[in-house]
Amino acid sequence: MPPFGANHTRRWRKQGRRRPIRFRSLCTAGLTRAAPCVTPCFLRPDLNNRDRAVAAVGTNMKRLLTLSILTLSAFWMSALAGCDRQTDEDVSSQTSEPGYRVVTTCGMVTDLVRRVAGDRAEVDPMMGNDIDPHTYNPTRNDIAKLEAADVIFYSGLNLEARLADTLVRMAGSGKRVVPVTRGIAQDKLLEPDEFEGHYDPHVWNDASLWADTVSVIRDTLAAQDPAGEADYGVRAAELEQKIRAVHEYAKQCIATIPERSRVLVTAHDAFNYFGRAYGLEVHGVQGITTEHEAGLSEINRLVRMLCDRKIGAIFVEQAFEERQVKAVVEGARANGHNLRVGGKLYSDAMGEPGTYGGTFVGMVDHNVTLITRALGGEAPEAGFQNKL
Ligand SMILES: [Zn+2]
Repeated sequence: MPPFGANHTRRWRKQGRRRPIRFRSLCTAGLTRAAPCVTPCFLRPDLNNRDRAVAAVGTNMKRLLTLSILTLSAFWMSALAGCDRQTDEDVSSQTSEPGYRVVTTCGMVTDLVRRVAGDRAEVDPMMGNDIDPHTYNPTRNDIAKLEAADVIFYSGLNLEARLADTLVRMAGSGKRVVPVTRGIAQDKLLEPDEFEGHYDPHVWNDASLWADTVSVIRDTLAAQDPAGEADYGVRAAELEQKIRAVHEYAKQCIATIPERSRVLVTAHDAFNYFGRAYGLEVHGVQGITTEHEAGLSEINRLVRMLCDRKIGAIFVEQAFEERQVKAVVEGARANGHNLRVGGKLYSDAMGEPGTYGGTFVGMVDHNVTLITRALGGEAPEAGFQNKL
């Protein structure tokens, strides 16, 4: 298989585009199926351009829809005057059924939405646990799901780069199409130098930021289903509390790693928020450059750093290639340093549905506990909730 850099460059030339500037990718460079996933411009402070486009279309359509609904409501109210009315009990029993359909993108969004929605909505995810959201293209089945949905939640900040046009179209049909990261204050977002003007989308790796998205889900569901507002409020409060608790667990665990070993090297640049929140220096092996040769020199630089600082472990990631991580390990061993793969982290995708690692809290617990123990810190073997 040709190196990523060659594929990447060829694809851009074939499309007749200017070759992309060399960059440290936040996300896709280094993946065999990758394409650049960051588009410029932030037209509203709390949203990136795609999210804003979706929101703008959605808002206009909602205005039109509201007007139509008001007109129709007035007509039906007069038409139904004198007819039998539904009682309050009837209305309440109807809304306690899974009365509406919600479609979500990646697992981190799906888990939160399911927990807040409870049994009041049918929640249908688009992406499985082995899917890289940066490069995911919607299937025909996905489009049908989206068209049938009443509400669509996605992460945003251009994580689901290839869904952007589809989401804009769905918002244009009058649905609620909502990026959950809208709940995170702009000044908490990272904007790496290499991506001037763009935010790092991997916000869930700071659990305290992901907790800020719960209120967006709660409020959206309550707007869709006002009868469930109290239910959504209770479940959202419980969920937010649990996420903030695992955040505290993470801070405590990582602090036990000897200071000189607080270096996290993973397959791609997904852990910048994690590093900032919990006090680790972070490096991504993949996604450094579009040039294969320069990629090799970057790998050599990482090998030297790991050997000089005697870092004991680096990590592979769920849904990402292990090849380059293994090259780093072999490079270190060739230099006499016994570096090992510390395990597989959940970075952009979670564990299998129905397992603890398939929940957001389980994902954080797994990552934190694994990293802490592999880098010489102290964490309970079975983790935060004794479920690992
Ligand atoms: Zn990523």
